[in-house]
Amino acid sequence: MTKLAFLREVLLTLESAHLSRLMRTLDSPQRAHVTCDGRDLLMLASNSYLDLSGDPDVKTAAAQAVLEWGVGSGGSRLTTGNTGVHEQLETALARFKGSDAALIFNTGYMANVGIISSLCGQNDAIFSDELNHASLIDGCRLSKANVHVYRHNDMSDLERAIRDSGFDPSHARGLVISDAVFSMDGDVVNLPQLMGLAEKYHLLSMIDEAHATGVLGATGRGTVEYYGLQSKPDILMGTLSKALGAEGGFVCGSRDLIEFLKHRARSFIFSTALAPASTVAARTALEILERHPERVQSLRRNIECFCDALAQEGIPTQSQSAIVPIIIGDEQLAVSVSQRLFADGYFISAIRYPTVAKGKARLRVALMSSHTETELRGAARAIARALRQERELTRTP
Ligand SMILES: *Cc1c(COP(=O)(O)O)cnc(C)c1O
Repeated sequence: MTKLAFLREVLLTLESAHLSRLMRTLDSPQRAHVTCDGRDLLMLASNSYLDLSGDPDVKTAAAQAVLEWGVGSGGSRLTTGNTGVHEQLETALARFKGSDAALIFNTGYMANVGIISSLCGQNDAIFSDELNHASLIDGCRLSKANVHVYRHNDMSDLERAIRDSGFDPSHARGLVISDAVFSMDGDVVNLPQLMGLAEKYHLLSMIDEAHATGVLGATGRGTVEYYGLQSKPDILMGTLSKALGAEGGFVCGSRDLIEFLKHRARSFIFSTALAPASTVAARTALEILERHPERVQSLRRNIECFCDALAQEGIPTQSQSAIVPIIIGDEQLAVSVSQRLFADGYFISAIRYPTVAKGKARLRVALMSSHTETELRGAARAIARALRQERELTRTP
């Protein structure tokens, strides 16, 4: 046995459980239509919900930023990597979210890991939704705090978990964390009740708006706008990499929170600052979103149209977000349906364990504001057909 033989064993086990991963190669920008492995496809799997990743104005601004600032930022924000464009983006984000201040991280993943591990330590308590994103889970692990997982979006189970934990705010910090829009189910956190419980039990509240920014609320400002709340969670985190089509993560909150994170969040401190071009791209995308809230409304119309079309095909679904999951269950079936759709001209991802629980495999459709009604109705028909055909195949021995 060689030292590395276990690698092959693990890979073979994954293969026999239909859990091998395949990376498709795109030959075009991330827009509503893409070319991939030599085919033209309707993109129904992208997080670029407002189709801003390949937007001409965003591209021009980023290209000009390269000419003006160069490519890499050359250092951590705390050493040499901080520029005016980083600060302008933070100002714009804070204004957009109605917060006092903001801080950008290199990715949403790094934001979550850095925020949680700096705010909480060994004696503290974190209450975390069972379907929270992996980056939140990893932040919890890194913090070494006591993590109490509550049932998905179940606020009475959250209250039970808080009581059972014996959390005492006079001796420790407490933090409740949730995705705003759950990334594989597309449902929305019960924010009013979550914030009520956070208030009642003296817990900090943190919401991850990765899939809510640019999507929820009439102007895409996220969950606070969606629910019309007067107050905000203490920590509002989001990404620049999804609806805003660029890359990076951010957090909005009080000035003290942001100052604290600059001093303590290790993923902020010990990593080279985001490239100026990415920063400018995100700011330009944010400006477009602020000037054109009708993009958010187009996305909303598309969500309604697509769910309606699926229902007409006998697949009842609903979603408040750009994510429309079609639960299939069996891992192999989900993959074969997705492959058939690919051959039919649709890029739709099959999501399997470990991203979702075993036996909960699904197609995860992600909509864009720029899809047309004709395209979406065609996609719903193709999905229903592919499902029927693949189910037939698995039935015949
Ligand atoms: C994508 C995602 C992240 C990570 O953001 P990146 O910028 O891609 O690193 C964090 N949280 C949630 C809920 C996400 O969906």
